[in-house]
Amino acid sequence: MELWLQEDSLFTGALPLPHSLLDQVVSYAPFTLFPSLVPSALLEQAYAVQMDFNLLVDAVSQNAAFLEQTLSSTIKRDDFTARLFDIHKQVLKEGIAQTVFLGLNRSDYMFQRNTDGSPALKQIEINTISASFGGLASRTPAVHRHVLSVLSKTQEAAKILSNNPSKGLALGIAKAWELYGSANALVLLIAQEKERNIFDQRAIENELLARNIHVIRRRFEDVSEKGSLDQDRRLFVDGQEVAVVYFRDGYMPSQYSLQNWEARLLLERSCAVKCPDIATQLAGTKKVQQELSRVGVLEVLLPGQSEAVARLRATFAGLYSLDMGEEGDQAITKALAAPSRFVLKPQREGGGNNLYGEEMVQALEQLKDSEERASYILMEKIEPEPFGNCLLRPGSPARMVQCISELGIFGAYVRQGKTLVMNKHVGHLLRTKAMEHADGGVAAGVAVLDNPYPV
Ligand code: ADP
Ligand code: MG
Repeated sequence: MELWLQEDSLFTGALPLPHSLLDQVVSYAPFTLFPSLVPSALLEQAYAVQMDFNLLVDAVSQNAAFLEQTLSSTIKRDDFTARLFDIHKQVLKEGIAQTVFLGLNRSDYMFQRNTDGSPALKQIEINTISASFGGLASRTPAVHRHVLSVLSKTQEAAKILSNNPSKGLALGIAKAWELYGSANALVLLIAQEKERNIFDQRAIENELLARNIHVIRRRFEDVSEKGSLDQDRRLFVDGQEVAVVYFRDGYMPSQYSLQNWEARLLLERSCAVKCPDIATQLAGTKKVQQELSRVGVLEVLLPGQSEAVARLRATFAGLYSLDMGEEGDQAITKALAAPSRFVLKPQREGGGNNLYGEEMVQALEQLKDSEERASYILMEKIEPEPFGNCLLRPGSPARMVQCISELGIFGAYVRQGKTLVMNKHVGHLLRTKAMEHADGGVAAGVAVLDNPYPV
């Protein structure tokens, strides 16, 4: 199984490690013992709509008026989104130096049970920054093929789909690097100080190295201390020119000190390809997701592309604005009347931020007369059909539990000026968690890695 680094109290007791190495314990990422059944039709649908989502995110990121209008109420009440938006405005005002744009995203879905019992693909969210687990998901097929082979299920083992998002994500970075057009320039991966999921990132770095593209890992702090722009706004860090900045940090408020905000601004002002640029990060906010579901909005953003619009809309769950006014009042009334059918979401990433059930009710009661409610959106709660699987994680006994899954599809696209030069889906991720957890992904310690077993 794939490995990751963790501070694990179990290991600290068992092994006499020097203190400096305690955060260097290599462990395995949690996974299911068996692959989970996923209807092939839904897998195909998710793959088929991925290029549309790439186009949509890219269109939103280029539409400053749409972003401004959509986020206007949110940024009054949400400091984090407001700060990102400030940088976006500053870059627009100065003029965008970047000419090549790279999007690496992951669109996540759950399988809603229709009233007739059939499952439907419903989008949970799209991650436009630091979409992770493409590296680890490239290794999981071999794990389940092995498990099934041990059980002499050779035919079943052969049905586990091949999957290599790390290669596809690296191809996107490589294309952007090539179009930047400077043979000695590097890829700068913005890394967290303590990164538990480093092997996920290394998988992509190694794919790049195989193409002779070198990656340096630096923190925002390093950029602020050793980063600079020349007169053409080319970015240099430690004296080396940077072609592509790949963010694996910078999506949560806690990841930014004042110094880090300054570093982010410096990066955004540069002509290096940012993955994502600030506008694309904003395009991935929950508020934008909610506004995209409004009647007529997709048609305006993707003119003349009615088939893409229909494919996109078919994956949308119910999404409701909580802005002050009658529409928001009605949404709150509906949620208070049937709390189990809704999720309250702030503008946050990384899992564990959404509110459900009684907590949601309390929050809505508190928020309903305040403008602060505009920093949240309300979403229909997806209720997939649970199934049994066994979750394996370090230090916990294996247990068979009732589970639900979330499917992610990775997308990669590259645009040069106004021309889209790459638009692909590059693989999938299946995460499975015990039913009793409403929220949370793999990194949050709730979900585990899985493979779809198409049926
Ligand atoms: P984050 O940006 O924190 O990952 P998400 O919107 O992906 O936020 O929500 C986190 C988790 O909460 C999801 O992985 C999923 O398990 C659960 N969740 C989110 N939205 C819904 C929903 N509409 N219905 C059911 N579960 C949801
Ligand atoms: Mg998520």
